[in-house]
Amino acid sequence: MIKKIALTLFSILFMSSCDKQPEAPAEPKWHDALPRESWSQFEKVDVGNSWFEVYKVTDNTYAIYEPFQWQEAISYLLLGSDNALLVDTLQGVGDLKSVVDQLTNLPIIVMNTHSHYDHVSSNYQFETIYGLDTPYTAGNAKGHSNADIGSSMTMDTIWKNLPEEFDITKYESKAYEIDKFVNDGEIIDIGSREIQVIFTPGHSPDSVILVDKANRMMFTGDTFYPAPIYVYSETTSLEDFFITSQIMFGYRNDVDYLMPGHNETMQPASYLDELRAATMAVINPTTPFEQGRNRRTYNFGDFSIIVKDPLDFGINAE
Ligand SMILES: [Zn+2]
Repeated sequence: MIKKIALTLFSILFMSSCDKQPEAPAEPKWHDALPRESWSQFEKVDVGNSWFEVYKVTDNTYAIYEPFQWQEAISYLLLGSDNALLVDTLQGVGDLKSVVDQLTNLPIIVMNTHSHYDHVSSNYQFETIYGLDTPYTAGNAKGHSNADIGSSMTMDTIWKNLPEEFDITKYESKAYEIDKFVNDGEIIDIGSREIQVIFTPGHSPDSVILVDKANRMMFTGDTFYPAPIYVYSETTSLEDFFITSQIMFGYRNDVDYLMPGHNETMQPASYLDELRAATMAVINPTTPFEQGRNRRTYNFGDFSIIVKDPLDFGINAE
């Protein structure tokens, strides 16, 4: 035993003083590229909260960003003269309502870009929720248990600043009730500011974009952001996503900025041209792609589109 300890001690001393072998390089981490430089162009608002970052992106629009979890989800607070519209409510980590309350005294209307848990999980904190009248939306509004989504919120997916009061082992998405169903093309008037809801299924059956023509902004949720766009899950539809990209392209002269639900904000509307071209490329059999297990990834520079393999489109549909 003593001999073994001595040998171990010798090894440690020897290794530490004489070993010239280079250390194995550290594994690259998903958060090595964070924080993202693009956020520094906006005025940061101190809300005394270490989990959320708030940026004033225009005179009447805030972005509320979760930079410390790999989803890097973004919600938006749009101020009108009568109401404020909260576009998405992030993942249910941290007290989003206390942040929103610091930014406005206006009554809040929540409208989600779609009902995935990373966009609706603080809905339960708010009184007025608008949503779509679809079975998919109703199903997600029942919430998700820790068994369903706990694996998405672990210390591997967070790099710092998890709120102390938050118990990560009990992570769940709480149920909420939709107070008003909105229709395709409906305008939500928050007072001197009209936001039009356009149904844009594809990424999910209940995806919408929100168009604020007066301020030349389009809130795109997960239907566009400059990163891998997911159109491969059970409930996605490439055919719908293809049509959606055409619908969004129709707004190219009405907006200057796309306001995505993840990573970065205020992206140029020229991406609407690129997204339409990209979906046309995806359905073209001569376009190269990276083959994955039951998936294909098509790369288009700043973004990619991940779809099912084989394609669920037209004659190729499964
Ligand atoms: Zn989503």
